[in-house]
Amino acid sequence: MFNLDVRSVILIAGIMSLLMAVVLFFLRRNYPPSIKGLSEWAAAPAIIFLATLLFGARGAIPDFLSIVIANLLLFGGASLLYFGSQRFLGVEPSIKLWSGLILLTLIPLAWFALAEPHHGVRVALITTFMTALSFTHARLILIRGTRSFSSHFTAIALLTLALTQSLRFVSALSLPAADGIFDSTSPSQTTYVSVYAFAALTATIGMVLMATDKLRAEFEHLAGHDSLTGALSRRVLIDACERELERCRRKGHSMSLLMIDLDNFKAINDAHGHLAGDRVLVDFTGRANAALRRPDRFGRFGGEEFVALLPETTLDQALVVAERMRAEVANSTAAQRYTVSIGAACSHADDATVDAILSRADAAMYAAKTAGRNRVRRAA
Ligand code: GH3
Ligand code: MG
Ligand code: MG
Repeated sequence: MFNLDVRSVILIAGIMSLLMAVVLFFLRRNYPPSIKGLSEWAAAPAIIFLATLLFGARGAIPDFLSIVIANLLLFGGASLLYFGSQRFLGVEPSIKLWSGLILLTLIPLAWFALAEPHHGVRVALITTFMTALSFTHARLILIRGTRSFSSHFTAIALLTLALTQSLRFVSALSLPAADGIFDSTSPSQTTYVSVYAFAALTATIGMVLMATDKLRAEFEHLAGHDSLTGALSRRVLIDACERELERCRRKGHSMSLLMIDLDNFKAINDAHGHLAGDRVLVDFTGRANAALRRPDRFGRFGGEEFVALLPETTLDQALVVAERMRAEVANSTAAQRYTVSIGAACSHADDATVDAILSRADAAMYAAKTAGRNRVRRAA
């Protein structure tokens, strides 16, 4: 077995955690502010490193510093890491609850450090707190995190922390009163502390991965969606149409497209300003999505022109959806009233391209305009 000196192991893991804090600090500076929790994630390993230094100075400094304050920093840092994950995942940090629990643990801890020193009781107190916190933290990431490698990696590191601490709790019950972690002759104590230090480091690495994953997801969303309305971009929608047309050919289904154009939109812009026009585009996107089913896709084609893709839908069914959408807009009680004209087209067995269906839908939409707007027309 390796003959590792526990002080060195803790110091090495502590320095690595500090380096992770530097990485997280730079992510916080460079990543968009929409990715939250990075400040807490950056500060936590630095605070835990301070705790490590105090733990390491045990014997050379007063026990109040190396036990009470060191554990306060450890609990505070570990809680901060959890608050960072809560903010990252859009949950309100439970600061009051965990501050209360820190206090509840720290008061008896101070007693069993200074008034009536007992190593076993102290380890039991510390491991109870850390097990509860690590387990709660892992649970949060498993429940609220994305189903990705980075989330699972972080959750496993946190579960390892929880497990190590609970095992250490069990062994603490048999610890003699006057023992200390650094002069402990028990190799299991050394193992617990080392596994703990490295699992904490692994959890921080997991957080860097989670933040990077989120950044990639945000970029992908930006690239595939219209920034004003959140509707799909033209490119993504046409890709989806092409895939669907391919599926239609294989399975003998038909798909329908709705080409939708806002009526007299220029007049809305001219009368109420461009911002009011923008609000109408956002309002329409909400109403259009409400009129569509889950497999349908909705995209902005440019300006005030939108396209809906309705998979496995006949022309008659598409006309029902289009009419529902038109009526939803025309009967709205929103401050800014507007209407839409819709052309509906269905794929034919001999349709070679998406463009062919789109141009039929476009012609039908223009027929709706010439017929007086605020209506639905079917393509030939
Ligand atoms: P029609 O009923 O024939 O469709 O008339 P229209 O006024 O809607 O059609 P037209 O194509 O003449 O005008 C479209 C207007 O949409 C002109 C353009 O300034 C405006 N527009 C395009 N994109 C945006 C945008 O992102 N925001 C706003 N507010 N207006 C936009
Ligand atoms: Mg228009
Ligand atoms: Mg137009």
